[in-house]
Amino acid sequence: MRRISFRRLALFGLGATLVAVGSMAHMRLKHSTNGNLLFWSNPGNISIVSSSVGSDNISDGSCETALRNAIDAWNDAAGSTGYLAENTSAAAQARTDWQSYDLHQIWFDEDGSSGYFPGSSSIVAITPIWFYSDGRIADADVIFNGKNHNFTTKGAANRFDIQDVATHELGHLLGLDHSGWAGASMYPYVSSSVILHRSLGLDDVHGMRAAYPSGSFASISGTVRRTADSSPVAGAHVVVRDSQGRTAGAALAGSTGAFTLRGLDAGQYDLYAAPLEGPMSAANLGAGWTVQTDFELSDHGSLTLAAGESRSIGNVFVASDVTISLGQNNDRYPLRCPSSQTSVHLARGTGLSPGSTLSASDPTLVVTPSTWSNSLVSFSVTVPGGAAPGHVDLIATNPSGDRSVLVAGLEITPPDPTVALVSPNQADLAGGTLVTITGTNFNPGCRVVVGSEIYEDGAVSGCTWVDSTTITLTTQSSQPGISDVVVIDSSGVEGRKSAAFQVVATPQLTLVFPAVGSMSGWTRVVLSGQNFVDGVVVRIDGVVQAGVSVPSTQKIEFWTSPSSTGLKVIEVENPGGFTATSQFSFVAAADPNIVQVTPASGTAKGGDGVTLTGTNFTAQTEVVFAADQNTGQGGVLAGNITFIDSSTLSFTTPAVGAGMSTLMVRNPGTGQIDLLSSGFNFQAEDTGGGGGGCASIVPSQPPAARDILGTLLWFAALAFLVRGPKRIALAPIRAKDR
Ligand SMILES: [Zn+2]
Repeated sequence: MRRISFRRLALFGLGATLVAVGSMAHMRLKHSTNGNLLFWSNPGNISIVSSSVGSDNISDGSCETALRNAIDAWNDAAGSTGYLAENTSAAAQARTDWQSYDLHQIWFDEDGSSGYFPGSSSIVAITPIWFYSDGRIADADVIFNGKNHNFTTKGAANRFDIQDVATHELGHLLGLDHSGWAGASMYPYVSSSVILHRSLGLDDVHGMRAAYPSGSFASISGTVRRTADSSPVAGAHVVVRDSQGRTAGAALAGSTGAFTLRGLDAGQYDLYAAPLEGPMSAANLGAGWTVQTDFELSDHGSLTLAAGESRSIGNVFVASDVTISLGQNNDRYPLRCPSSQTSVHLARGTGLSPGSTLSASDPTLVVTPSTWSNSLVSFSVTVPGGAAPGHVDLIATNPSGDRSVLVAGLEITPPDPTVALVSPNQADLAGGTLVTITGTNFNPGCRVVVGSEIYEDGAVSGCTWVDSTTITLTTQSSQPGISDVVVIDSSGVEGRKSAAFQVVATPQLTLVFPAVGSMSGWTRVVLSGQNFVDGVVVRIDGVVQAGVSVPSTQKIEFWTSPSSTGLKVIEVENPGGFTATSQFSFVAAADPNIVQVTPASGTAKGGDGVTLTGTNFTAQTEVVFAADQNTGQGGVLAGNITFIDSSTLSFTTPAVGAGMSTLMVRNPGTGQIDLLSSGFNFQAEDTGGGGGGCASIVPSQPPAARDILGTLLWFAALAFLVRGPKRIALAPIRAKDR
């Protein structure tokens, strides 16, 4: 059998100090020694899981939503079969064994336990990849450095945008390396609050097409050579622009100067070669690459490609080196240029001498430099209204005519959307409410995020873009709560209306147990129904009840307050004002009350004699085993129930099967009850001692306590622990128990 060796590749991404391993040619990662490109053998179904823990900076569930949007960005890449299939099962999201090959997880390392962020690390996130020698990826995970950095989903200052960072790291997970485009998602640096890596650039899309093509695309191949002596140039950045002057494709030449630029659509292109010496440089590439930068930005000219055409263009000649260079990695790229606006920017570099000129590759943009200071140029960019989103090169030309290009340094975006009105602003958690969002600068292809739900324009269960000021959607079922309403443009820019929508729960009350209690209060009542949420208020006859807890959306527990006798209205009110009602009766008689069960265990086959002590028993009091503790329904009557006095009953146990059973007393005249949830232990075999079940109930209990207290008090104490304030007088028993 062939032995397979794994190698581990750590991509240190998005930090101020970077160690990137791999290559950039066609944006693919590759095996660092044998050169095999890394790939998923099942690209159409790459499992990905967001850890349920999320980021400790985010408490409203929007972390998972942001990660899902990042996943969608890659899944929406046109012309690729690559697909990240998110597994949202609770079991998968709860896993912590991220190193397992069958789990590809996105998680936040808050305490350094991953080992990737020692000390004070500038790494924002990392994507370790495990792969076979043939390049097949076995496992990859995205780890955010929550130990050293803070994250946001709402544009908070000095925090990194989760969706932005996740989009970049997922590109690595898919097998892509860093991009030479300053505006691509795979550009190796990020600043806090930057969100433009959320949307893929064409170079990112072409990387997916190269790795996992769906259909065939045009390509251009050739060899970069120096004009002076025809010697090949290794590692030249070969780029094409489309007929609108937009940056449209790229490749990195190999050591022989040969390049193949893949993933192109049909169309007219202008091709040029430029040194990789700007903000993205050889420092961002792995070992084994030769990147020569001793040449000037050189145009090759225009060509027109048919769909799927493979064009060989021979030699691309480049001129000798110049001293001007535009763009450095301490700039903040991409430079966002909203349409119909004038924005102000700066770019660092060398040789940016006064008297130089600055231009954009898209001639409809007006670039106006204001200051040249050799190491820096400040300038404004005016973009016409309605300009399409995309990337534009920025070119500096010094007074001698020498040039440098910042590839894809400008990102044209629409203006920020604004959300003015959400109507209605409230809906039931079941979903199905038609909501209209009114605002400005809405564009087709947008998505709306409301709480944990994402509504994508045109998608099944998505939203509908109506016009630039109107979006409609029908709510999905979702968790109750108040959420921002966020409209995210396909370019990544967003508009947000804070706390604009509330998902409310209309409670349903199906059963009150017991439905009767003493007028003196302290009856423990369980309400069964649907859509109960934390913060619910319970009233009887208008009186707010005490000790309300909501163990689940189907259950409320509380203790009655004293009241006058009679039939009363019981009302539950969820936050948001939605209510449900039923009835509860108060009677003058005191509730029956179990204090001790002697013995508290017996055989599963029944027939054991038991004595109950307590208060307020009557000659009609029934004793029921194994009734449902939330409803009182079901169960089996004890045999030979004998009323000795109001504080003592004796009976024989029925056969209800092995295990812990509820024990209920019920006064049939009024319906008043008392119930111990762990009232009696039916044992499969009579062990004689009766204490065998204890350890499995409270395993931390020291054996000595059982020896001292004996079986009877043991169970009484346990029941007390479960039940709460009603039996507060018995507290010393529990204290001794410890
Ligand atoms: Zn990276």
